[in-house]
Amino acid sequence: MTALLERDRGLVWHPYAPLDGPSPYAVRGASGTRLQLEAADGTRFDVVDAMSSWWCAIHGYRHPALDAAVHAQVDRFSHVMFGGLTHEPAVRLAEQLVALTPGDLQHVFLADSGSVSVEVALKLAVQYQAAIGRPQRRRFVALRGGYHGDTTGAMSVCDPVDGMHALFPGLVAEQLFLPRPPADDASVDGWVAQAEQLVAEHAETIAGIVVEPVLQGAGGMHVYPPVCVTALRRIADEHGILLIADEIATGFGRTGTPFGVDHAGVVPDVMCVGKALTGGYLSLAAVLCTGEVGRTVRTLLHGPTFMGNPLACAVASASLDLLPAHAARVPGIASELAVALKPAAALGSVRDVRVLGAVGVVQLTGPVDVVAVTRAALERGVWVRPFRDLVYTMPPYICAPDEIATIGAAVTGAIEQVHG
Ligand SMILES: *Cc1c(COP(=O)(O)O)cnc(C)c1O
Repeated sequence: MTALLERDRGLVWHPYAPLDGPSPYAVRGASGTRLQLEAADGTRFDVVDAMSSWWCAIHGYRHPALDAAVHAQVDRFSHVMFGGLTHEPAVRLAEQLVALTPGDLQHVFLADSGSVSVEVALKLAVQYQAAIGRPQRRRFVALRGGYHGDTTGAMSVCDPVDGMHALFPGLVAEQLFLPRPPADDASVDGWVAQAEQLVAEHAETIAGIVVEPVLQGAGGMHVYPPVCVTALRRIADEHGILLIADEIATGFGRTGTPFGVDHAGVVPDVMCVGKALTGGYLSLAAVLCTGEVGRTVRTLLHGPTFMGNPLACAVASASLDLLPAHAARVPGIASELAVALKPAAALGSVRDVRVLGAVGVVQLTGPVDVVAVTRAALERGVWVRPFRDLVYTMPPYICAPDEIATIGAAVTGAIEQVHG
């Protein structure tokens, strides 16, 4: 395995990491809630996964039902083009998604990744506005602190600083930005007033508002009041603008409700889902839209080669079959995380501790020493991947109470060891 790390070095790019950066850990195996890892110095770890591989592996690794779904579909056919053809896995998955999502979201576009689904949602909104005779409405309102993916259209609605807009002038479209929504109810009125004003000023050029409901993920693990989402719905309606909910991180029960918008009781015009959709097995995302949007646009101008990939759809269906039983654990995980992470709040290096559903966040007063904290957590039996000033967890829904306790203790202990 150390030889593997040698071969990896300088050859394979890792996300947002230099080619000659700190060595990753080699994966020896993954099953249930556990990862078997090996460090560059040969140390082996068998640890609890606190990350669900970036929100995806909600049922854990090598789940028998998901493994079986992939095997069964491989034995039928693995891929066919989606132009002019259809198949049971895609239709079944679309039916399940329509049933699971709120309101009259009833048309489904199967995309190949979260970022692509955001591209599709933006195009859908622009096509919608053009179809009702408002072709000048091509811009989007997004929130500072937001994250919507790494392709250039998606980047344009990410936070302009984190999204590195200055690095890619001309390539990334210029959008309109609201401040990050406030963390508490007390400042909501002022934020809503700013939203009303920005949209009123530019309504004639705006196609849609893009938002991660109640939890901004990769842009800072920021939890904010559902009334902000309710206000965006109202403002969008007042101006004939589409509300696009990016539920790629928040979807499928992670925040304690089926979708983030369910905290606000709001139905978006367009919804993007991804990440946990296949239970972490294959890359797949979906864009859902209302009957109104679907009828108006009719032909959506997008069509990826691997659209509706049967293997991905089959495992996504199997994952959604498991969801009710497993998502029922989320409220329990939430209260266990609150207890397990509480001691972290007393550390001198910690600014804030917050929990929403099966998401636990410890925010430090400064940047995390990622290499040192990762190693210190592994030595305490847990895999975490901190970023910026955040050490956070979104464990698989199948984690037992003692595993949540282990995660809390490891996160707190690692932060204390490295940062005090
Ligand atoms: C991860 C993420 C994306 C991008 O999804 P990819 O599958 O990585 O392209 C978009 N929006 C949100 C909210 C995400 O968390």
